[in-house]
Amino acid sequence: MSEHIRELQQGDFLFKEGDAADCAYIVESGALEISTHSEGEQVIICTLTDGDIVGEMGIIDNEPRTANALALKPTRLTPVTRNQLTDRIQGADAILKLLIQILLDRYRSGLTRIKGEHTTNKDAMSEEAVREYIYKGIDKIRLEVELKDALTDGQLKVFYQPLLNIEYRKIAGFEALTRWIHPERGFISPGLFITLAEETDLIVPVGLYVFEQACKGMATFETIAREHEYPEPLFMSINVSGRQIADPSFIGEAARIAKETGVPPGQIKLEITESLAVNIEPTQQWIAQAHEVGFKVSLDDFGTGFSSLETLYRLDLDNAKVDQAFIKGLQSDAKNRQLLRDIVTMIRGLGLDVVVEGIETKAQLEFISALDCHYGQGFLFSKSIPEDEVCKLLEDPPDFGG
Ligand code: C2E
Ligand code: CA
Ligand code: CA
Repeated sequence: MSEHIRELQQGDFLFKEGDAADCAYIVESGALEISTHSEGEQVIICTLTDGDIVGEMGIIDNEPRTANALALKPTRLTPVTRNQLTDRIQGADAILKLLIQILLDRYRSGLTRIKGEHTTNKDAMSEEAVREYIYKGIDKIRLEVELKDALTDGQLKVFYQPLLNIEYRKIAGFEALTRWIHPERGFISPGLFITLAEETDLIVPVGLYVFEQACKGMATFETIAREHEYPEPLFMSINVSGRQIADPSFIGEAARIAKETGVPPGQIKLEITESLAVNIEPTQQWIAQAHEVGFKVSLDDFGTGFSSLETLYRLDLDNAKVDQAFIKGLQSDAKNRQLLRDIVTMIRGLGLDVVVEGIETKAQLEFISALDCHYGQGFLFSKSIPEDEVCKLLEDPPDFGG
C-alpha cells in the first residue's frame, strides 16, 4: 500500500474549523461530511466521496480551515501537498491565476453566507462549478502522488535501445528510455509521466534515479563488450530535461554517480532537446560544466524546432540526433532524401557525430548507409529492451544487415 495514503475510521475528523491548512486530500474511498458552524448550529455543507478533493482552498490561499471534515465511514485519502498546487498556480498564465482568485473569493463569500455573516459579495459560486474546475486537475495530481511511490517502489524501469555503428553494423551504445509499469494502470508512456515529472521538481529525483540505473546497466554491458571484443567502448545516452539543467547540483550528482558505478564520464552522452537551448547562454554554461567533468552532450530531435541551425552553430555539442520525422519522409520524396543528405553533411561539417533515429525498414538503412553518418537507432535493429535482454543481445548479436 502507498505510504502516502491516509486512513480514517468512522467518526475521525480529518480537520476541524480553525486548524492550520497543511495539505489537501483526494478521497480514494469512503465518505467525508463537510460542515461548518452557523449561528450556533452545525450546518452540513456537503458529503464528499470517491474522486472528490477536500481541503484545497485553505492551502491555495493559505488560510486556516473554514469547515470540519468528518469521516462517515472508513475513509482512505491521498494527501496533496501545498507545493503540488502552488507550483502549478505560480507557473500558470495570468488569466488562469485570475480565474483561481475569482473562484477562491466566491467560495469564501459563499461560505460566509452559509455562516450568516455579513458579506457584500452576492456572487457565490455553485458548488458544482467549483467541483468541475477542480476535477480536471485531480487525476493529474493523483498520478503525480503515485509517481512518487513509483520512484521508491521500483515501478520505474530503465530500458535500453541499442544504437548501431552504421559502418560495422555492431552495437555501439544505448539510449536509456524509462518505462513506468503501474501496478493498476499498467504501462504509462514516458510522454505522459516525464511531462508530469517535468511540471514539478519530481523530474530531479526521477532523472537521478534513471541516471544511476543507466550507469549500473552500462557497467554490466561494458564488461560483456570487453569479453566479446567490441571494437570501441560502448556509450550510454541519457535524456536530460529542462528542469534538470536548471538544477545546479545535477552535473555534480551525475559525476558522483558515474564515479561510484565505475563508468568513465566520456562514455555518457547527455541528450538535450532544442527547446532547452532557446536560452543559449545558460545552456552554453551548462554544456561547459558537463564537459569539465567529461560528459558528452548530444542534441536530440534535431530539425524539429525553429532555432535548429542557430542551436547547432552556437552550442559546443558533441553529437546530434536527426529527428525521426526526416527518415519517415524518405521513401516517397526525392526532396526529402536530399534534405536528409544535406542535414547529415552539415552536422558532420561542424565536427559532430550524427545519429539517425527511427530506422524501421531495410530500405531506410540502405539509404543511411550511403550517407556518412555514424550511428543509427530504430525498431529495425531493436526496440528498447530490459537489462537482461541487452546482455543476451551483446553476447549473441543477430545479423544487423551488415
Ligand atoms: P526520445 O528521446 O526522442 O526517444 C526516442 C523515442 O522514439 C522512444 O520513445 C523510442 O522508443 C522511440 N523510437 C525508437 N526507435 C523508433 C522507431 O524506429 N520508430 C518509432 N516510431 N519510434 C522509435 P519512448 O521510449 O516512448 O520515449 C518518448 C520520449 O520520452 C523520449 O523521446 C524522451 O524525450 C522521453 N523520455 C523517455 N525516457 C526518459 C527519461 O528517462 N528522461 C527524460 N527526461 N525523458 C525521457
Ligand atoms: Ca532522446
Ligand atoms: Ca529523439
